[in-house]
Amino acid sequence: MKLLIHGARGSFTTNSAPNNFGGHTTCIEIQNGDTPPLIIDAGTGLGEAIRNKHSLFYSSAYIKGDGQANFLVTHTHWDHVIALPTFAPLFVPGNEFHFYSPFEDLEDRFRVLFDKRFFPVPYDTVKPQLHFHTIKEEEEFEIDGYKVTCFEQYHPGTSYRYRVETKSKIIVVATDVEITKEKQDWKSLKGADIAFIDAHYFPEDFKPGFGHSHFQHAIDHAVKAEVAKLLLCHLNPEYSDKQLEIQLQRALKYLKKEHSDSPLIVEMACQGQIIDV
Ligand SMILES: [Zn+2]
Ligand SMILES: [Zn+2]
Repeated sequence: MKLLIHGARGSFTTNSAPNNFGGHTTCIEIQNGDTPPLIIDAGTGLGEAIRNKHSLFYSSAYIKGDGQANFLVTHTHWDHVIALPTFAPLFVPGNEFHFYSPFEDLEDRFRVLFDKRFFPVPYDTVKPQLHFHTIKEEEEFEIDGYKVTCFEQYHPGTSYRYRVETKSKIIVVATDVEITKEKQDWKSLKGADIAFIDAHYFPEDFKPGFGHSHFQHAIDHAVKAEVAKLLLCHLNPEYSDKQLEIQLQRALKYLKKEHSDSPLIVEMACQGQIIDV
C-alpha cells in the first residue's frame, strides 16, 4: 500500500518561497494494488495529482473516460473541496467518481461550487460522472477491499475523521479537529500505522473555537492510542519553512520530555511525499 500526499496545508494555499512543504491544501491518495485510488479530500492538491507520475490519476484511463476513484470527504470547507470544479477528469464522460460522507446534502453542497456566480461551467456537466453515498458514523463499510469507518469531530460546521484498514495496515486521517473540545476517547486512532492529525498552530498561536489543534494535542492522543507514526497536518499557510521546521523540532522535544518511553515517530506531512505503508 502507498500513500501520496498531494497537499498538506490548511485553510488556504501559499506560494511564498522557499516552500519545501508545498503550498496546496489537503489531498491524500491511498493506493493498493490495482484498485481505484482512495482519495481523502479534494483540496487544491488534487489538481497536482494529475501532474504527478506516481499518482493513479496520471493514467490515460482518466482521459479516455475509463477511470474510477473513491473520495472520502472530511467536510466541505473550501480548502477541502475547492479543486473539484477544475479537476479535468470530472468532465470526461465515462469516468466514475464516488463520494462518501455522512453529509446527506453533499451533492447540494457540490452544486454550490458550480454556481454560475462563482464558476462558469454548470454542475450538470459533471453530474453523470458523480455518485454520492451517505454513510453512517462509526459503522464500518467496505470500498474495494478497504474497510472504512468515520467518526464525527469537533470543528465548526462538523468534520469527520476516517479510519481506513486493509488486511494488515491502518491509516487514520484526522484533519480539521479541535482536540481540546473532543468528547470521544480516540478509539478511532487505536493501533494506526499512520495517523494524520491536525496541528495547525504553535501552542502560543492556538485559537480556541477555530476548530484546529497544535502539536502537543496531536502527540498526546497519538501516544495514548499507540499510533506508530504521526504526521502533523493542516500546516498553517502563514508559517514559513523555517517556522515549520521549528514546529517539528519543538514537537520532537515535547515527545521526548512528556512521553520518553513512547516509540511514536513524529513527522510533518509534506506535499509530494510518497509513503510505503
Ligand atoms: Zn481545513
Ligand atoms: Zn475546516
